[in-house]
Amino acid sequence: MSNPQQPPIAIIGGGITGCAAAYRLHQQQRQVRLFELSDRLGGVIRSERSGEWLVEAGPNSMREDSPEITKLLVELRLDSNKCLPRPDARHRYLVRNGQLIAAPMSPKEVLGSKLFSFVTKAKLAAENLRRPKPRETDLPLAGLIRDHFGSEVVDYLLNPFVSGVFAGDAEKLSARLAFPMLWALEQKYGSLLRGFQAEADDARAHGRPFPTPSISFNNGLVSLPRALADPLPAGAVEFGAKVEQLQPGRPWRITWSRDGISRTEEFETVLLALPAVALAGLSIGGRTPLAALGAVEHAPVTSIFLGYPRHQVAHPLDGFGMLVPAVEKRSILGAIFSSTLFTRRAPVDHVALTVMVGGALRPELTKLPPDRLLTHVRRDLTELLGVTGMPVFARHHVWSASLPQFNVGYERFLDAIQQCELAHPRLFLGGHVREGNSVSACLAAGFRLADKALA
Ligand SMILES: Cc1cc2nc3c(=O)[nH]c(=O)nc-3n(C[C@H](O)[C@H](O)[C@H](O)COP(=O)(O)OP(=O)(O)OC[C@H]3O[C@@H](n4cnc5c(N)ncnc54)[C@H](O)[C@@H]3O)c2cc1C
Repeated sequence: MSNPQQPPIAIIGGGITGCAAAYRLHQQQRQVRLFELSDRLGGVIRSERSGEWLVEAGPNSMREDSPEITKLLVELRLDSNKCLPRPDARHRYLVRNGQLIAAPMSPKEVLGSKLFSFVTKAKLAAENLRRPKPRETDLPLAGLIRDHFGSEVVDYLLNPFVSGVFAGDAEKLSARLAFPMLWALEQKYGSLLRGFQAEADDARAHGRPFPTPSISFNNGLVSLPRALADPLPAGAVEFGAKVEQLQPGRPWRITWSRDGISRTEEFETVLLALPAVALAGLSIGGRTPLAALGAVEHAPVTSIFLGYPRHQVAHPLDGFGMLVPAVEKRSILGAIFSSTLFTRRAPVDHVALTVMVGGALRPELTKLPPDRLLTHVRRDLTELLGVTGMPVFARHHVWSASLPQFNVGYERFLDAIQQCELAHPRLFLGGHVREGNSVSACLAAGFRLADKALA
């Protein structure tokens, strides 16, 4: 039960960040109003069941990377609903010369792998001996990795990995901001390989899994934002609500509209959990203090979910999926083997693939009509996985501005966010624009936003 004596808190944006903030505040008996532009919660988390197919149009999995998440899932009674990767999803494939090669997961596997030449293997061995080298200035991620391991590792390991997380361009992404762990390992150990090994040893010594597990739920990731919003009282969430103006003060006044009708409400605190484009256009006190965020680069991505009878796919699909390096000159960035990864994604004797296309390097592909794009995708799937015939089920979703690129120089956007908070007491911002492209990071950000509102 919320306490009606205390003034309400507004949360704008009903993605995972906004839902997490609403949940935490409601738990603390605070009255919340959650304004969401669309008619559903979850933002880019969009799981859709269609018969026995389960389509994830946005993220396919999240990292259970903290004890807080584990505790939360129990609290939300989602632990019994949780899906872990199936045992046969053990490989992570990379494509080289049109062949799928399992990514090496240990130094011994690297030595035996067909992914790298002898020269690169020698560089990998030598990298172990590097001493910490303090870097003052940021540099592109590709530059950092090239410095440690050479170009072959950039082409066949870093670039596909970057496609999988940011759909980005490693020649532009910031080494310091896009993958802060790499930056920190270099500062601490010098050698990234030694650093990884030390982190893995430390995690195991403390009983923590390394790497942290990828998870989903029986009915897809959307179960999480739904469960977070479930305890909210009726009327707390306004769907189809476009927040247009904020008027700072005590109280804050928020003007929002639906179906052309505007309303104004008063709040003690305002939490913004919005994408960059929405923040850039938001009027706060008659100005647009976050206009600079209009220049945040986004990688457009098309996600294509395809279902096939099992016999139409020659490859055993014994993996999490495959990533396709840009040097391979194919149309697709990669594919998740969705029905191998988690149970209940496809009917019996069928398989499901989630193919990603476009990204920072091939944005034009996201503009193709679905049938033309499918022609390109089918060609790649035939050559790489031995897929024959037409899919029996297909869904197509374009994300044009949902994956902000933490490129070199992104600090200026983070500074604009911080300045806006400093200039406006009781206004707090969080979400993927600030935390990066990760469900678990945004979940944690939502809780932090709530804690700031409670302070
Ligand atoms: C294709 C894709 C694949 C991904 N894959 C993974 C993955 O496998 N694993 C992983 O961990 N992460 C993944 N991510 C990243 C992760 O999903 C996101 O970083 C995270 O879900 C973002 O949550 P958010 O709440 O910050 O923002 P969003 O989900 O964008 O939510 C913002 C909300 O604000 C609403 N809104 C916008 N304007 C207004 C307005 N004016 N008024 C009111 N509401 C408004 C929007 O409708 C939306 O619901 C992926 C992202 C994409 C796009």
